[in-house]
Amino acid sequence: MDIGAHVDQADPIAEAQARRAPHVQFFLGDPQGYRGPEIRYAGGADGLRTDAEAAGIGLYVHAPYIVNVATTNNRIRIPSRKLLQQHVDAAAAIGARGLIVHGGHVNKDDDPEKGFDNWRKAIEATDLKLPLLIENTAGGDNAMTRYLERIGRVWDAIAATEQADLVGFCLDTCHAHAGGNSLETVVGDVLAITGRIDLVHCNDSRDAFDSGADRHANLGAGKVDADLLAAVVRDAGAPVVLETPGGAAEHVADAHWLSERL
Ligand SMILES: [Zn+2]
Repeated sequence: MDIGAHVDQADPIAEAQARRAPHVQFFLGDPQGYRGPEIRYAGGADGLRTDAEAAGIGLYVHAPYIVNVATTNNRIRIPSRKLLQQHVDAAAAIGARGLIVHGGHVNKDDDPEKGFDNWRKAIEATDLKLPLLIENTAGGDNAMTRYLERIGRVWDAIAATEQADLVGFCLDTCHAHAGGNSLETVVGDVLAITGRIDLVHCNDSRDAFDSGADRHANLGAGKVDADLLAAVVRDAGAPVVLETPGGAAEHVADAHWLSERL
């Protein structure tokens, strides 16, 4: 099983090597800001692509958390679409394997149908140059990808678009657990909807099942059943990214914990 981690973007290759990881994930810039992606690698985008290829390290980019292409609020949706395209372009420029983006949400009193349709429009409006992996989220009122039924509706909306093949799924185990989706069935449930799981964010959760809280924990240190966590990773059969607290030492320990149980 290929296990990588979320790391700082300044030197993702060194971060991967420090973890003996075959791939890493990182942000391109401020995860909470609208300023647009920036490449902090000393060699720039071309250098990062070439050096990562030479080192045999796979790269994944996580879009900023504030991207919400589903919302009915124009002042968030329009800059979110722009930011999404900018991140697609930047991620493609460094040769990334995928761009991960959260499902977003509509406002509390909004009709969720508007959010599903906004997802369709966002996919139609974006030139996808690499796989866009939509991630399930833990909480939020009126979220698009917390519960399975909504994930299904987002997928229905996207299925009609020309670039549907380039849209994949990222399953976060902490978010599934805290979001109230049983880890005993979530892999089969998701596959029945999307037909694919492209990446697993393997995280334990500091919070209880269906709490709606998004607080990651190191593997075995949270509220997720250890055997279930390993079973999800095994059944999903996709590359793994740890988004657990700490640096290289903690990620190596988490990867070891997981490998032993697979
Ligand atoms: Zn995640």
